[in-house]
Amino acid sequence: MTRFVVKLGTSVLTAGTDRLHRPYFVELARQIVRLKADGHEVVLVSSGAIAAGKERLGADPRRRSNIPLKQVFAAVGQSRLMHIYEQIFDLYGLQVAQALLTRDDLRDRRRYLNARNTLTLCLAQGIVPIINENDAVATAEIRVGDNDNLSALVAGLIDADLLLILTDIAGLYSADPRTDPTAELLREVPVIDERIWAMAGGSGTHRGTGGMQTKIQAADLATRSGVAVVIAAGHEPDVIVRVANGERIGTYFPATTSHPDARQRWILAETVRHSRIVIDEGAAMALIQYGKSLLAAGIREVNGEFDRGQTVRIFDLAGREIARGLTQYRSSDLRLIAGLRSHQIGPVLGYDYGPEIVHRDDMVVLATKE
Ligand code: GLU
Repeated sequence: MTRFVVKLGTSVLTAGTDRLHRPYFVELARQIVRLKADGHEVVLVSSGAIAAGKERLGADPRRRSNIPLKQVFAAVGQSRLMHIYEQIFDLYGLQVAQALLTRDDLRDRRRYLNARNTLTLCLAQGIVPIINENDAVATAEIRVGDNDNLSALVAGLIDADLLLILTDIAGLYSADPRTDPTAELLREVPVIDERIWAMAGGSGTHRGTGGMQTKIQAADLATRSGVAVVIAAGHEPDVIVRVANGERIGTYFPATTSHPDARQRWILAETVRHSRIVIDEGAAMALIQYGKSLLAAGIREVNGEFDRGQTVRIFDLAGREIARGLTQYRSSDLRLIAGLRSHQIGPVLGYDYGPEIVHRDDMVVLATKE
């Protein structure tokens, strides 16, 4: 049995038009029935709410809308989107469930575990959960922002084996295939390094939020969480069934770790994107080679704003990200105590949460021992 998360972008669900393309939903249902018959489990992360809202309200689909208006479109469109899933999947005897999440739901450990329970129980009952961001209520601070990253978070949340990101392009190319005739499709990406980030470039279509950039972010997070990723074209015939049968389609990213435990996945999921703690060589060695906690003395630089209890990114002097973990001190405090000995923390801040800035038990080391 394989547990799949299938991410469907707006451009796939509209088949490149300005409306949700009903025949695609039929095609989707047909493939999911086959997967389930083979004993697999499927969770969908579906965009398309905003497109559905525009369709319903008769808005010009190409016009950029401001955020409040987008939230109205999402509020109207989400129920319409689910209505289509309900109607069409019902014809194939598939039961669906809706879960709308924000980053905040995944940040709070109790809510995270609860979401995990609900989704796992749905799967156990043979129900197909369909997930989207809760766009109608989410503000910038609590949003994931794009469904590529959301799908990676969900894949980690439910311990999926494979995340299949379906989009309007056949996978990751060495250059932009729309403008560069020498662009080649990459079949497999064993590590996501600078070269790969450069290939991902920017931009996307006007219909979805993410371009290749957010897909690579998603692949990065998912593969670190022990989930393999495939990026492929949604219009490829029988793509879901064929990927499930092990056929190589699109670009494949193998998982870079075997499944980390649930707590580690949660730590990774919650990362403050712009956080950056730079540590010196000694501290890096202590973390990677000796399995130690991070202390104030080894900290050289603190960038970004974060609170106590959030997941921060830890870099070495060469700019390599070596770990992520829950910080015991907020960013403004850390700037004051960076480089100090542990006994100086109390006198400088007037309080003290202990000598560990990031405790070993709250840390996921990304770099490997040399
Ligand atoms: N949540 C948005 C929607 O349903 C889509 C976000 C995305 O495509 O990344 O329309």
